[in-house]
Parts: sequence; structure tokens; C-alpha cells
Amino acid sequence: MKTKPNTKEFISHIPSLIYQTLCVADIGVIVFTSNQILYINDYAKNIVGYDNTSNISILDVLFTSSHHHIIETMKQGHNVIAVEDVLASSLDTPIYIRGTLTIHKTVEETIYTLVFYDITKEMEVGFASELEHKLLEILQDKIDVGILIFEIISIEQLKVKIIYHNTSACIVDNYKDKKNRVSLLSIFDLTEEQIDNISSYFAIVLSDLVSAECLTLHKVLGKDNRLYKIDMQTIVADDNAYILCSLVDKTDEYMTIQNLETKTYVDELTSVYNRRYIMIALQDAIQQAEKYNTPLSLIIMDIDFFKKINDTYGHIVGDMVLQKVAHIVNSNIRKSDIFGRYGGEEFIIICKNTSSKDATTLANKLRMKIEETNFGDKLKVTCSFGVTEYVKGESIEEFINRADKGLYLAKESGRNKVIEVCMTA
Ligand code: GH3
Ligand code: MG
Ligand code: MG
Repeated sequence: MKTKPNTKEFISHIPSLIYQTLCVADIGVIVFTSNQILYINDYAKNIVGYDNTSNISILDVLFTSSHHHIIETMKQGHNVIAVEDVLASSLDTPIYIRGTLTIHKTVEETIYTLVFYDITKEMEVGFASELEHKLLEILQDKIDVGILIFEIISIEQLKVKIIYHNTSACIVDNYKDKKNRVSLLSIFDLTEEQIDNISSYFAIVLSDLVSAECLTLHKVLGKDNRLYKIDMQTIVADDNAYILCSLVDKTDEYMTIQNLETKTYVDELTSVYNRRYIMIALQDAIQQAEKYNTPLSLIIMDIDFFKKINDTYGHIVGDMVLQKVAHIVNSNIRKSDIFGRYGGEEFIIICKNTSSKDATTLANKLRMKIEETNFGDKLKVTCSFGVTEYVKGESIEEFINRADKGLYLAKESGRNKVIEVCMTA
């Protein structure tokens, strides 16, 4: 039976214990002369990628960059040199190592012992974090896009807590409190529609943490009187939902489009929207009604016996009547209603968030206002109206045709009338 060594005996074995440890540890050991590898442990072999190292010289694998440094250090008489280098392994990827090169001279030659560990991962992480750092620097100061990361505090008042914002998003600085809390309503003059959109978006984000919802808003008016395009994107981290929001100042671009829109979408005679715009707006309104399941109604109106007005009083008076009717309607509808000239003496009102019952009430109010208006000497003008409510899933044509049917029935039954047509009718 083997007896345990005493401490003194044990200490004498330390060199061989270190040797045994080095052979199996995650440390590379290579002992070499200028033209031959004398010893290489398994770990180093794995890294270098050569199965059989007897035929290769250390020069085949080592020292791509610190060669000069080693020679110089040796010249100064040092025989232990710290090295940080790249191993030119037979594998595809370079291996970064950090270690110590020890130099021993024998009578015949110089023997080098390299002990190293692999720092490739460390280098990669270092590179990635350097890149990340540079990117953050660019995002912080050097781009024109405002970047804002916030948490939703409450849907009401659109209250948020700012987690981060870059220099271009400094607009928030003027309105946030000490705890970085701010209401979006104090940064932007939001339209009712924009508020609705953001509220719905916030509600979705809060109800479903894993969803990656996005929201884009155009022509958002900042308190700085600039027009922004805003994109919001949900990011989920640590089980919390954050919103990454980008702000792009598009004032110049929007202004140009707005000028263009005036010509493209506005009727020259009456200054209300034209048919082209009405069709786009109606398509939009239908999409919203489908998405948020809100009621949407359509009023089509037509001036009664307008041909007779033209024939009796002439075209110039006819034109004046068109302008006056447009003005009466425009001044008696809600901001969210979209009113336009559909053609000739026919107009359309898109009533968002409105049932056909309420739209019928509005149509009757307009009908009476027009009837009561004095258009000039003995000139009385009346209009007929068709009203209907959007039915989920139907096409824009089906929707318009039903309102048109109401208008036809109003004309049939004696004019100066409002007829509401329901889906089942
Ligand atoms: P109803 O009650 O059935 O609607 O009869 P109406 O005479 O109003 O309808 P009709 O369709 O027979 O005539 C419409 C007239 O509107 C004919 C057209 O010359 C006139 N009109 C269309 N656009 C303009 C315009 O821009 N200015 C003027 N002054 N008249 C127009
Ligand atoms: Mg008419
Ligand atoms: Mg007509």
C-alpha cells in the first residue's frame, strides 16, 4: 500500500505536477527550435489544426505580427517575453492568443517555449462592443433622425416615460418632468385621428407584450411648428414593452406635397375636396372602420332642379349657387367629416364614427339650412339626400351605390328629402 508523501517530498514533485496540469488544461504549450517543433500539447494541436506536427516548423504557424518585437526584446537580453499574436492555423479563422515566450539557449541551438491561451472570443466581443459603441455615437449625435425610447404609462393623455433620446429628439427635453415623464400631447399638436391611432396602438401594446406592432404617423405637428413623420415599433425586453420611436423632420417635403395636393385634390370652383380626394379618403375611412370596428356613414346630396336654375338665371348664378351650397355644408359639419364635390351639382360627406341614424339627422339639418338660405332675388334652392352606413366587408362601390339609391328615392318622392337606406332595405 502506497504511503502518502510528506510535504517536502510533495514539493519536489511540483514541476512534474505543473507539467501534467499543463498537458490537460485549456492552455497551449509549444516547445520549438527555429526549424522544428519539439513538443506541442493536445490543446495547442487542436487550435493549430495540425494532426501531425513533426514535419512543420513553428514559422508555419506562428508570429505574424510580433516577430519583430520578439527579436528586438531578445536582442536586449530578455528571455521571457509577453506575446499577443495571431496564430496562422491551418483552420480558416485566425486565432488570437496571449501568452509568454520563454527562451533557453543550449550549446547547439535556441529553444523556445510558448505558453498561451486563446483570446479569440474576447477579441471578437471587444470588436463587437467597439462597433456598438461607434454606432451609438452616430445615433446619438450624428444623424438627423430623432430617436426616442419610452415606456407607456397611461393611454389617457398618452403619457410615457422617456428611457432614452438622442440629440435630434431634443424636442422632448422642453416638456419632460424630473422623472422623465411626458405626455405626447404636450410635445405634439395631435389631430383627433392621430390621438385615436396612438391610443389604439398603445392599447394593443399593453394588452399583448409579445406582439411586434408598428405604427406610422404622417404630418405630425410638433410644438416647434415642424412637421414630423413618426414611426413607432414595439420592443420587448425583460418582459417589459418599450416603444422605439423615430422622428423625422419632413416639414419641407410635406409643404411641397401640400402645395401639390391643393391643385390635385381640391375643386377649383367650390374650394372643397374633389372626387379624386373623396375616393382616396373613403377608401381610408373604410379601412379604419374595418380595423377599429367603428361605424362609418355616407351622405350623397344633389341640388334639385339645378338645370332649371342654370337655364333661368344663367351659369354664373349657377356657379354661385354651387359655391354657396358648398359653404353652407362646410360650415355645418364636424372636423372629422370629409366633404367634397363628387361631380356636377352632387356632393359627398364621409361621416367617420357616425351611425346612419346620426348621419340622417345631419343631412336633415343641412337640408333645412339650404332651404332657409336666401340665394338672391326669389331664388330658392333645395337639395335631396341619400344616407347609408357602411357594412363590414362590402366594397366601396356597394357602399356608394346604396347611398345613391337613397338619393334616387329622395328625388322620386318629391325632392328636398333625406332617405336613409339600410343594408336590408
Ligand atoms: P334633379 O333635381 O333631378 O337633380 O335635376 P337637376 O336639373 O339638378 O339635374 P340634371 O342632372 O338634369 O342637371 C344638372 C345640371 O348641373 C346640368 C349641368 O349643366 C349643371 N352643372 C354641372 N356642373 C356645373 C357647374 O360647374 N356649374 C354650373 N353652373 N352648372 C353645372
Ligand atoms: Mg340635381
Ligand atoms: Mg345630379
